[in-house]
Amino acid sequence: MSSQIKINRIQRALDLLTPHESHCTLCPHECGADRRKGEKGICESGVQTKLSHVGLHFGEEPVLSGYRDCSSEILNKKTHLAGSGTLFFSGCNLKCLFCQNYQLSWFNQGTEVTPAELAKNILTLQKKGALNINLVSPMHFLIPILRGLELAYEQGLHLQIVYNTNAFEKVQTLTLLEGIMDIYLPDLKFFSLLAARTLSNTLDYFQYAHLAIKEMFRQKPNLRFNNNEIAQEGLIIRHLVLPGMVKDSIDIMEWIAGNVSLSVGISLMSQYFPCFRAPKEIQKKLSSKDYSLVVDHAQKLGFEILFIQPELFESTEHLNPDFDKKSPFKWTD
Ligand code: SF4
Repeated sequence: MSSQIKINRIQRALDLLTPHESHCTLCPHECGADRRKGEKGICESGVQTKLSHVGLHFGEEPVLSGYRDCSSEILNKKTHLAGSGTLFFSGCNLKCLFCQNYQLSWFNQGTEVTPAELAKNILTLQKKGALNINLVSPMHFLIPILRGLELAYEQGLHLQIVYNTNAFEKVQTLTLLEGIMDIYLPDLKFFSLLAARTLSNTLDYFQYAHLAIKEMFRQKPNLRFNNNEIAQEGLIIRHLVLPGMVKDSIDIMEWIAGNVSLSVGISLMSQYFPCFRAPKEIQKKLSSKDYSLVVDHAQKLGFEILFIQPELFESTEHLNPDFDKKSPFKWTD
């Protein structure tokens, strides 16, 4: 799709989204915050984007990062592709108690940037050879992000955009992103009301998330790759398997198989690490047995594109970033 078509779609979306700056109902919380007057909703976001970390990421799914294995040994060689161009935003509308990025989602670490500064960061990632632009937790900053993307396209952005979200989204908002986002990368975190209530600030996570994922699938039903096996468009649904919660994970896999498609990408993450305010039920590491039960079930259901992380059980490294450090990940770019 040409840059001009994307710019036109962004402008149309901004026309409809901008009123949310003074009465924000972008997400299911529908706080009604007047951000122009400095009011903050549950996500604690203002009018400008707050950016916490920008850099090439080598630990996303191989079709996004270009790396099949992000062990230190492989990364030190950095022989081939260039990583996913990630922009980590501060704040969150879901605030899971076990959040692996709690320094951003709960503590709002980051710096406010204008759309022009955001565009500059995006173009710097492109210049460094990023394979895509990966917006991490973008929903609550959708308006200034779209302004930044518009400027970046005007200045030569040509990479695919990855919309990396917790999926606690409204369909009405997502509909406006059609033709702008190339790859949807939602989490599907909890199936049961009990899990959502115990582990996040919502009761009705699945009620919204399942509709959001259906809308993403409507927009991007086919996962398509280039000759280097890098995703160009489509839907990849992530699920972080939590300790002792195999049933919830299996319910999620069955729902996707029965209600979305067996041809979407499924990423079963094993990188859970007990941190922040994780309640006692999940104050332990994920066992390889629990993880294998979920993977086996997904394979039995017949998913065609399944990303898994069994290697993490063999490693003493965990993938969680530390955003207090200048280089939060185990690599530098
Ligand atoms: S995006 Fe933030 S301010 Fe807007 S409705 Fe959601 S939580 Fe509230």
